[in-house]
Amino acid sequence: MLLHCSPSGNDDGLPEPGAWQRQLAGAIRDPRALCQRLGLDPSWLAGALSGHELFEVRVPEAFAARMRIGDPHDPLLRQVLPLANEVDDTPGFVTDPLEEAQHTARRGLIHKYAGRVLLITSPACAVNCRYCFRRHFPYSDNAPTRLQWDETLNYLRDDTSLREAILSGGDPLAASDRQLAWLVARLDGIAHLKRLRLHTRLPVVIPDRVDGVMLDWLATTRLQKVMVLHINHANEIDDAVIAACARLKAVGVTLLNQSVILKGVNDDVDSLEALSERLFEADILPYYLHAFDPVAGAAHFAVSDEDAEALMAELRTRLPGFLMPTLVREIPGEASKTPLQGV
Ligand SMILES: *Cc1c(COP(=O)(O)O)cnc(C)c1O
Ligand code: SF4
Repeated sequence: MLLHCSPSGNDDGLPEPGAWQRQLAGAIRDPRALCQRLGLDPSWLAGALSGHELFEVRVPEAFAARMRIGDPHDPLLRQVLPLANEVDDTPGFVTDPLEEAQHTARRGLIHKYAGRVLLITSPACAVNCRYCFRRHFPYSDNAPTRLQWDETLNYLRDDTSLREAILSGGDPLAASDRQLAWLVARLDGIAHLKRLRLHTRLPVVIPDRVDGVMLDWLATTRLQKVMVLHINHANEIDDAVIAACARLKAVGVTLLNQSVILKGVNDDVDSLEALSERLFEADILPYYLHAFDPVAGAAHFAVSDEDAEALMAELRTRLPGFLMPTLVREIPGEASKTPLQGV
């Protein structure tokens, strides 16, 4: 049973402020260290080294601690362990499957859907997911400076059709609380904005990210707050994640989850059912299940739409409707995410 503790209580169990930054700085960034930490057979190292050349390894210890030692097929390890076949050039698997380069009209701003604008708030991530559709995104060209933030904020002020600002990345919570508090205070001052949304994986991989400093700016904004977490497997949700979610709920954050369907991680109905059940135990509702995007280097994660739709149909026979994510794909040029038809 969850205890919803108040962030201002005496025995609030809040993480030590700034502890998350040390954990982030100390993340495993060497393929050798990752293989050793998980007790993998040395035969995995060559592949890990070659994949690392393309997209560097990054795994915080708090996430590694949820993996099974000695199991190369652990569903959490799969998401972060580079494999030899990442260097394969698979026809149809491209570097920018969503054609985002075309939509980034201003640096750090993507406005594709009515009423919502996505702000690339931090180019960094706390974890590097091998299947990431942004693994080839030119983030260094999209990390906004203070001057560009002024331009971005003017854009938001001028477009009165906007209701929601979505902080994304990379991972927006990789930015400092000082920067985030500054930004959120400015968004707060734009009268037509109603909602602040964050798309983040940080509270999952480093639950101590949700400390008192972060809760302060979340608690004080007038905007309604939605956090879309990114969790692909039930084993990602340990007691520390549940406690971090309780802290977020206590300051009024609505918690949703998006996952990606990934071969070898969650492409079976038992895993998807366990994920939804575990999410609800943590007070998180399933939101989207993303169909796989053909990103170069990640072909080994591909699940066909047909298989994904069949999994959804079976999942629906096991779960209440409110625990069913919507299977979607982002199609360049469409006005919204596109739901896939069930079978
Ligand atoms: C996915 C996405 C959104 C949010 O879409 P919702 O359906 O509201 O979750 C907004 N902007 C961009 C650019 C997106 O890719
Ligand atoms: S946290 Fe999100 S943006 Fe960062 S690597 Fe993972 S999937 Fe990509």
